[in-house]
Amino acid sequence: MSTIDLPPPSVGPVSRLAPKPIKFVLNWGRRYSLWVFNFGLACCAIEFIATSMSRHDFIRLGVIPFAPGPRQADLMVVSGTVSDKMAPAVRRLYEQMPEPKYVISFGACSNCGGPYWDSYCVTKGVDQIIPVDVYVPGCPPRPEALLHGIVHLQEKIAGESLGERYDGGEPMSPPPAPRP
Ligand code: SF4
Repeated sequence: MSTIDLPPPSVGPVSRLAPKPIKFVLNWGRRYSLWVFNFGLACCAIEFIATSMSRHDFIRLGVIPFAPGPRQADLMVVSGTVSDKMAPAVRRLYEQMPEPKYVISFGACSNCGGPYWDSYCVTKGVDQIIPVDVYVPGCPPRPEALLHGIVHLQEKIAGESLGERYDGGEPMSPPPAPRP
């Protein structure tokens, strides 16, 4: 029985060397099979759930609700108020997601603290603890705004080269250090 030489598990060099049609297929597959992990922390989470229901139905865009946990997810949607006490848990679950992974910050609270921007216990933006790909503004944003954010993320993925995103399988831009 003949054996097949498989490429090394690192996705970076494989993607860099892959011809253009292969890159297109890889990006197409990643773009339309986004397993989503909802990190619902407050009222915005209700709008996220509404977006997954039949009226707005984000499955038609290739977003699959709901990943059983971060290890099965490609996309984390942070919806709601991130408190300083919750921030380490957000970061820890983000680190448990496999690469390539994406984050949508959904709503004013996760974007910048929202109405609680001057609170002593609220993180002023989830991007202080994890990298964010797309910000969706609003308090709360409408489901249509989340659909727009998802399409925007998919356009970003379509134009992405995993070789640029990775260097030997490691993220080129590690997430920022957690706040003290
Ligand atoms: Fe609630 Fe507004 Fe904050 Fe969303 S942005 S979690 S609706 S207070």
